[in-house]
Amino acid sequence: MKAMGQRRMVFVTGNDTGVGKTVLAAALTRRLRAHGVDAVALKPLCSGGRNDARALQTAADHALTLDEVNPWHFRAALAPKLAARLEKRRISRREVAAHVRMIARRFQITLVEGAGGLLSPLTEDGDNRDLLAALRPEAVIIVVPNRLGAVNQARLVLAALPKIARRRSVVVLVEQRKPDAASRTNAALLAEFAAGISMVHLPWLASGRLTFRAAAALDALAAFTMADS
Ligand SMILES: [Mg+2]
Repeated sequence: MKAMGQRRMVFVTGNDTGVGKTVLAAALTRRLRAHGVDAVALKPLCSGGRNDARALQTAADHALTLDEVNPWHFRAALAPKLAARLEKRRISRREVAAHVRMIARRFQITLVEGAGGLLSPLTEDGDNRDLLAALRPEAVIIVVPNRLGAVNQARLVLAALPKIARRRSVVVLVEQRKPDAASRTNAALLAEFAAGISMVHLPWLASGRLTFRAAAALDALAAFTMADS
């Protein structure tokens, strides 16, 4: 991996909740650190438990405290905007962005995991896309399960991204435990609609064992996050 002087922020989003954003962010953080890159991952808002934040904290060898990884957490397993209201709290995009920027100044790469999908409500004044737009990240990772429907899902997310972010984005097609008929054709079909879009196939990571293919996929993503856009 080439050395970087510049600090970089990478926003990790997806087409839905539960699609593997945290698994991917943790695996990429580990891989970057294995290559000597000072990388950390944040999940600024968590609702319904802080397991995502703990996984990201561990992936970065506890370079950050849990409250740095995740300053805002709420009990209800609902969109953070609503979960916060239930606790009579109101979180603004500005304070979330300020926290992320403060952390990002200290590390070479800071991954930022949103909550839910791109348009899921996040703060009192906006959704994941609004936070992304405020942060102006150097790269955007869009996690989509590689199954029937993925082309539509990936296109919806790409269409919803601010134009500048679209040019800096990579779609990660996450292999499913049981591939279907579309799993082998999704990438080529998506490429027909989204000319020039970067894509990475990520094998199923649940076993915890880093296969050669998974390592290669993570290296491709690492290179993407560090490339000049
Ligand atoms: Mg997650």
